[in-house]
Order: sequence, then C-alpha cells, then structure tokens
Amino acid sequence: MSPLPILDLAPALEAHRRALAACRRCAATLPAGARPVVSHAVAPRVMIVGQAPGPSEATGGRPFVGRSGRTLFRWLAEAGLGEEEARAAILIAAVTRCYPGPSPSGRGDRVATPAERGACAPWLDRELALLRPALVIPIGRLAIDRLLGPLPLAAVVGRVHPVVAGGVETRAVPLPHPSGASGWLNAPAHRALLDDAITHLADEFARVGLIDGGRRAAA
Ligand code: SF4
Repeated sequence: MSPLPILDLAPALEAHRRALAACRRCAATLPAGARPVVSHAVAPRVMIVGQAPGPSEATGGRPFVGRSGRTLFRWLAEAGLGEEEARAAILIAAVTRCYPGPSPSGRGDRVATPAERGACAPWLDRELALLRPALVIPIGRLAIDRLLGPLPLAAVVGRVHPVVAGGVETRAVPLPHPSGASGWLNAPAHRALLDDAITHLADEFARVGLIDGGRRAAA
C-alpha cells in the first residue's frame, strides 16, 4: 500500500486525534478525569513511541513536557533537531495515552496494565497505518518491547533496526527512557550506546529530510 497523499493525511490525522482525545476505554482503571495526551505534529514522517504520560504531561496536555521531556529534547537537539521542530515534525505516540496514576509503592508512576496496553494498542496501529513512518523511535522498556520484542536494552540501544510495526515496514532507533529512573544510563558502556543512538538519529533525520546532513550539534 502506498502512503496516503500528504493532502489527505492532515484531515485523516485530525479525525484520528479527535477520536483518540475522546477515548475513555480504560475509565474503570484510570484515575478520575484521566484524558488522552495527543501530539499535534503536522504531516509527520517520523514517530516517537513513549511509554505513558506522566503527571506533567497530563496537566500540560502535551507529550514529554516534564523532566523526561527536557532530557529527550536535549538528545534530539544533539542529533540536530530542536524541540519545536521535533514537535512539529514527529508524531509523539505512546504505548498508552493516559496518565495511569502514581505507583501503589509511592515511587514513580503506575505501569499500565496489560489490559490497558491492549486497549490502547489500536490507536498506535492506526497511526502507523496512517503515517507509514520512515522512522520510529521507541523510548523505554514498554515501547521497545512493543516494537522490537523483549530484548535487553544493551542489545538494542545504539543500533538501527529494520522492523515491521502495525503491518508497516520501517526502521527503529530505540532510546532508553530519559527519566533515568532505572539507573541504566549510569554505566559508561550504556552512555556510549546512547551516544551511538544519537549519531544514528542524526543520520536518520538527514535520511528522511528533517535536517541537512552533518547538522549534529556538539554533545
Ligand atoms: S489508555 Fe488508551 S485506550 Fe485507555 S482510555 Fe486512554 S487512550 Fe483510551
């Protein structure tokens, strides 16, 4: 199937956003008043797939606006793409789109249940089918599991992977979660893998026409 013509994509994407914003499938298990957080990218050819919004995103109504977002957009800037450019050119999706609430342990956010992830999966599949993205950036364990399978982070970060996602052949450059909550990035070898991933992102951004080649900023 060939990509939708660009003139047809904008209304299809807007209709998708409206339908997603109205979704309440998980109302029984989410905090009261939880609402989907949607991306407002214009004609995106690249997708980010995060895990789930946090409280900052739920309040701000935009993906990756909290501390994790500052780190993520610093990484993207190192690959040559500024935050506002990235928000316009990249559709930021997630495994689940509503803030799942705090963890019962009191540390961090609750991990979305398999039922919530299953209920939310068709939204991501629809976006992949609509956009047929030239590049997907899965961020964090749940998103990497969804797109690449349950492989160790050290085996997938720092490489470009051919993937079939939502029936679409594309390429994936996985990133660890920028919250740093896991401590994975504390190991120098893992930092080196992140740097390799940022170099691949710069190459991929140039390949898909988001930046001129060689625009990577100094880290
Ligand atoms: S998590 Fe996904 S499926 Fe569940 S209510 Fe939110 S948008 Fe709908």
